[in-house]
Amino acid sequence: MNNGAHANALPDDLPVSRSAVDNGVTDSPAERGSGSARAPSGYCGRFAPSPTGPLHFGSLVAALASCLEARRQGGRWLVRMDDLDTPRCAAVAATSILHSLDAFGFEYDEPLVWQSQRSERYAQALAALQMQALVYPCACTRRELADSLLAPDGASIYPGTCRNGLGTGRRAGSWRVCVGEQVIVFADRIQGAQHTHLADEVGDFVVRRADGLFAYQLATVIDDADAGVTDVVRGADLLASTPRQIWLQHCLGLARPAYAHVPVAVNGAGEKLSKQTLARALDNAHPAPALVSALRFLGQNPPADLARASQPEVWAWAHANWHEARVPRLAAKLWKEE
Ligand SMILES: [Zn+2]
Repeated sequence: MNNGAHANALPDDLPVSRSAVDNGVTDSPAERGSGSARAPSGYCGRFAPSPTGPLHFGSLVAALASCLEARRQGGRWLVRMDDLDTPRCAAVAATSILHSLDAFGFEYDEPLVWQSQRSERYAQALAALQMQALVYPCACTRRELADSLLAPDGASIYPGTCRNGLGTGRRAGSWRVCVGEQVIVFADRIQGAQHTHLADEVGDFVVRRADGLFAYQLATVIDDADAGVTDVVRGADLLASTPRQIWLQHCLGLARPAYAHVPVAVNGAGEKLSKQTLARALDNAHPAPALVSALRFLGQNPPADLARASQPEVWAWAHANWHEARVPRLAAKLWKEE
């Protein structure tokens, strides 16, 4: 495994981003939050939870790592609700997440962005891909794809059925982007060198779903670009999504952020902490112990008595002592509730 310290020396076999053609996805300051000057360092990080339930320890880890690294770099830190794919109850979960972030002492620099309010931007990006003939309509149903090979994340590897046109009588449902034959290479600051041959490992992937919703991969790429995000620090459960996002950045002429994927907190059964695995919601009344536990999970070695300190004291310690290089180079790490 590559040591992240040397990661920047890795070759990158994709050409440098093309200058943005008139594709409607260049940076759009008008849509960005106002009132906050760009940080002098230019660094911009973000935390983008999906409002599927209350904030739990696993999301606290991702929020804390992305926030501390952004502050360490003198940068901005943003929060975005990835609520594209969530039903109406998302509003309740989002409110609960924001309440927890506040209780835990997180401060973000610009007004919150909601993916559910940005469909127009995603439609512009899809149109740009259509103009370049990089996407095509797909009529395949889940059942038709059931026999396809499976990618490591369990999704089917798309065999390219509709790439050269829909058969007669077949109705377009989703839109897929052509992935080409190149290997996507990137150097993750924590997980090391990553190589993905999208054609073999993923296949042409969906950018707009049959139900009309834009895919997470496309939305995330547009949101990060519009907000000027330079560094994506998030859970390693999203490591497998990153090559797809890099490919979309390339297709759309967008700058590529740097990536750092922190270990995902798993329970004794090896399951990611989530609403589905009944992860306990964070206790907003006692933020310090959970913050200290997250710091320990992230390899920061906080002193034992810090858990009894006040929340501002924990933050002061974290800001003074945070080193991303100490984060364990693991995709998953066991966490036991303390
Ligand atoms: Zn198809």
